[in-house]
Amino acid sequence: MLFAHDTECGLAAAAALVNTTGPGREGLPDVAALDEFFTAHGWSGRHEHTDAELLQVRALRPRLRRIWYADTDEVVEIVNLLLRESRALPQLIRHDGEPYHLHAVPRDAPLATRMAVEAAMALADLVRAGELSRLRRCDHPDCDNVLVDLSKNRSRRFCDAGCGNRAAVSAYRARKASHS
Ligand SMILES: [Zn+2]
Ligand SMILES: [Zn+2]
Repeated sequence: MLFAHDTECGLAAAAALVNTTGPGREGLPDVAALDEFFTAHGWSGRHEHTDAELLQVRALRPRLRRIWYADTDEVVEIVNLLLRESRALPQLIRHDGEPYHLHAVPRDAPLATRMAVEAAMALADLVRAGELSRLRRCDHPDCDNVLVDLSKNRSRRFCDAGCGNRAAVSAYRARKASHS
């Protein structure tokens, strides 16, 4: 493990949230989709199942996406702003059988606030470690998903949406075509 467990989870959750949207694609079209995302990514705590909550979560995505395109100073600016806006106050807590980890807003804070702060805290770790180059964009030409490369040799090129397989298949077809 490169970073603390909560840092790695926070980075993965941020990337997953960013990747719920793309050109002509809305992965969080309604409250039910957010419910599914909430469960799939192990979120707990306050969850209102309302349109207002959904809109707040959606609004967070472009702010997080910018981080993948930003230089260090810009990342710091975004992270500090997210922490300031949410009045983040780091506290070590233990819940749901997990070991002690940091929460910087109460568990009854709005979902979008908690998502923002969890991402910001994880990114703060990445900045401090000088590891922002771990934030990468998918190499597949038809994909604009972001990813977090937590591999030891920094070899991860594709997002989780199956782009690695797609790229392998097209490379195979191209090879076959050039031999026939
Ligand atoms: Zn927790
Ligand atoms: Zn991809």
